Amino acid sequence: MSGKSLLLHDALYYQYCFGEEHPFNPVRLQMTLDLMQSMKIIESNQILTPVLPSDEMLGTVHSKEYIDAVKHASTTPDYMSSTYGLGTDDTPTFLDMHRVTSLIVGGTVQAAEMVMEGQCHHALNLGGGLHHSFADKASGFCVYNDAAIAIKHLQLKYNAKVLYLDTDAHHGDGVQSIFYHDPNVMTISFHETGKYLFPGTGNIHERGEGDGFGYSYNIPLEPFTEDESFKEALYEVLPAVMENFKPDIIISQNGCDAHYLDPLTHLYSTINIFAEIPKLVHQLAHTYCQGRWVAIGGGGYDLWRVVPRAWSLLWAEMNHQDIREAPIPKSWIDKWSVNAPVALPHSMKDPEKMYEPVPRKPEIDEKNLLTVKKVLHKL
Ligand SMILES: [Zn+2]
Ligand SMILES: [Zn+2]
Repeated sequence: MSGKSLLLHDALYYQYCFGEEHPFNPVRLQMTLDLMQSMKIIESNQILTPVLPSDEMLGTVHSKEYIDAVKHASTTPDYMSSTYGLGTDDTPTFLDMHRVTSLIVGGTVQAAEMVMEGQCHHALNLGGGLHHSFADKASGFCVYNDAAIAIKHLQLKYNAKVLYLDTDAHHGDGVQSIFYHDPNVMTISFHETGKYLFPGTGNIHERGEGDGFGYSYNIPLEPFTEDESFKEALYEVLPAVMENFKPDIIISQNGCDAHYLDPLTHLYSTINIFAEIPKLVHQLAHTYCQGRWVAIGGGGYDLWRVVPRAWSLLWAEMNHQDIREAPIPKSWIDKWSVNAPVALPHSMKDPEKMYEPVPRKPEIDEKNLLTVKKVLHKL
């Protein structure tokens, strides 16, 4: 096997777009790929085009009625259904919605397949990470649940035990709900507490049901949580869960909306956390899963300053490279400055003192630590 990781990607992903004014903007994928290419951390033979999954494959997670509704919405721009969560302010319809979202699903499924077949240790699908989608309902900008469908595929084809890790600032509610009764899938989500943020779930008491009890973990973090406390929570809980569960493969959702600059959330991460998270996942994948690691994208709404850097750091980690101290190529800055409403970063690092010290820091750190202790107590 070559030591190189693979990226599943297609220009059709750029059509996963809910309109100019919507925060989920696919230009971030273009900017990220362009940054990786201009930093010369990706070669063209590492990029693979996914294939469309069958309706049958989508149907392993989603109801036929819901898939039919998405198909209908694909050709009917003013379609609106609160039952299926389509045509809402959150998740408006767009032309070709079914095909575009299906291809993103295909990317995550294929990433999982390539890793299981030993064609690479690690594979990435940045278009994926649509974690709010439910079996019969779209939600929070997510139409089909690519991670859940890939997990089903891993179960059906390989009988694999899967650990799904979600570090998006929003709770991974869709994936959790789909496997809530399943003891062969461990879902673990680190997110900003649902007290103040969509979707409102992800309490530590949500632990699974029936046979699946004990196979869902939630670590809700306080608003204004900074890197140190986030990292502590992650490093305390994740290795312990891995040791207990011993999965065959890790799927990590890498939403980068926990950053201080993100307009939708209240966490205070710096860019460093998006190097620290994949670093730990990478180590654990090699320790417990013979390297088998699929990474997907997710949220991230500071398109200009955060997402391209965060996801390039992820990709660099997957390729055993360290770009944390690297400058951003001038060609990239010049190219994207034309459209950017803010000044683009010149370095992979965030500026020192990006924000004023958080007055309640000791209280926040302590509260997070208490949450971690309660979670570990349940292991
Ligand atoms: Zn590796
Ligand atoms: Zn999010």
